Amino acid sequence: MKAAEGYILKAFKDKDKVLKLTEKIRRLSEELGRTVRIMEFCGGHTHAIMKHGIDQLLDGVVRFVHGPGCPVCVMPMQRIDLAIELAKREDVILCSYGDLLRVPGSRRKSLLDVRAEGGDVRMVYSCLDTLKIARENPDKKVIFFAIGFETTTPQTAVLIKKAKEEGMRNLFVVSNHVITPAAIQHILNAPEIREIGKVEIDAFIGPGHVSVIIGTKPYHYFAEEFLKPVVIAGFEPLDVLKAVYLILKQLKEGRAEVENEYTRFVTYEGNVKAQRLVAEVFELRKTFEWRGLGIIPYSSLKIKKDYEEFDAEKVFDVSLPEPKEHPACICGKVIRGVAKPTDCKLFGNVCTPSNPLGSCMVSSEGACAAYYKYRRGIVFHR
Ligand code: SF4
Repeated sequence: MKAAEGYILKAFKDKDKVLKLTEKIRRLSEELGRTVRIMEFCGGHTHAIMKHGIDQLLDGVVRFVHGPGCPVCVMPMQRIDLAIELAKREDVILCSYGDLLRVPGSRRKSLLDVRAEGGDVRMVYSCLDTLKIARENPDKKVIFFAIGFETTTPQTAVLIKKAKEEGMRNLFVVSNHVITPAAIQHILNAPEIREIGKVEIDAFIGPGHVSVIIGTKPYHYFAEEFLKPVVIAGFEPLDVLKAVYLILKQLKEGRAEVENEYTRFVTYEGNVKAQRLVAEVFELRKTFEWRGLGIIPYSSLKIKKDYEEFDAEKVFDVSLPEPKEHPACICGKVIRGVAKPTDCKLFGNVCTPSNPLGSCMVSSEGACAAYYKYRRGIVFHR
C-alpha cells in the first residue's frame, strides 16, 4: 500500500487533497463495514484508475468493476467482418479511427492485414478528413466506418450533412454509434447482476466525455429505478477519487442520486445543439449487438431516410462469414464485468497489444490493454 500511495501522490500533485480525501473515503468505508463495488462505465476511467494506482490505493475499500465503455471493445465480430469485407473491394477506400484497424475479425485478420494485402485502408484522426479523401478520389467509393459513443456521433452527423450539402456521390458511412444509457440499463437488468448476484454493483462512475453531450439527465432513471448512485466524473485522478467519496457518502446516507463531479464540463441538459444535430441525421435502431452484452434494443443509431444515400449498409450488398470469436478469448466476460483481464489464460503471453487476439487488448481504452500496461509486472510475479 505504501508504494502505491507514494506513486499516486506524485500523480495527483496535490498531496494534501489526496490524503484528506483518501482518509475520508476510508472512514466512510469503515462506517459502511464492507467493500463497495463500483462500475466505472468508461474505458477512460479504467485507464485513469490503473495508471494512477487508485485501485491499489483503495484496496479493500472499493472494488472497481470495469464496464463496457470502450467503443472498439464492444464492437461485435460481425461489424469488424463487415469493415474487412468492404475494405477488400477494389473500388473502395475504407477509413476509420486508429484502434479499429487493429481489431482481429473472424479469420484473425484485421483491417491492417487487408491493407498489407493491397486494400486501401486509411486511418483518420477526424471523420471530416474523409471529405477531402472523397474529393481527391472521385473514381473511388470512400467509406467511413463510424464508431463511438455519444461523444463522437455529432461529428459524424456533421460529416453526413456536409456530404449532402456538397452533393457528394462517393462518400458513405457505416454507423456503429452506440448509446450509453441503453447499455447501463442492460447491465442492470442482466440476470448476472440482478438475480444471480455474480457481479454486484453498488454504484456507477458515469462517463465524463459522453455526459458533456447527453448531460446528467438520462442517468436519473438508473438512480431512481435501480437505486444505484451515479456520479459523473472527470478523468484526472482527483476526479475519480472525489467520485468515489461522493458514492460512499450516498451509500452511507442511504441515498441513490445522480451527482455531477465534472461540473467544469457537464451540465444537466448537456450539449443541446449537438443533440439536435444528431437527431436530424440519426435515429434509433431497433436492435444492435454488443460484444459481450449481446443484443440490446434501441442501443445504437442508424442513418435517417433523408440521408440514406450516404448509408453504406443500404448501398453495399455484403455477404458475411459466420462470426467466430477466438475460443479462448474472454473479452465478452471482461466487458460484462464478470471477469478480469488477468483471468484470461492468454493475457500477456499469447495476447499482447502488439499481437491482440481480442478487442479489449487493442484499444487504448480496453481493460486488457490497461492491465497489460499498468499491472503486467504484478500479474507475472504473482
Ligand atoms: Fe481477449 Fe486478449 Fe483480453 Fe484474453 S487478454 S480476454 S484474449 S483481449
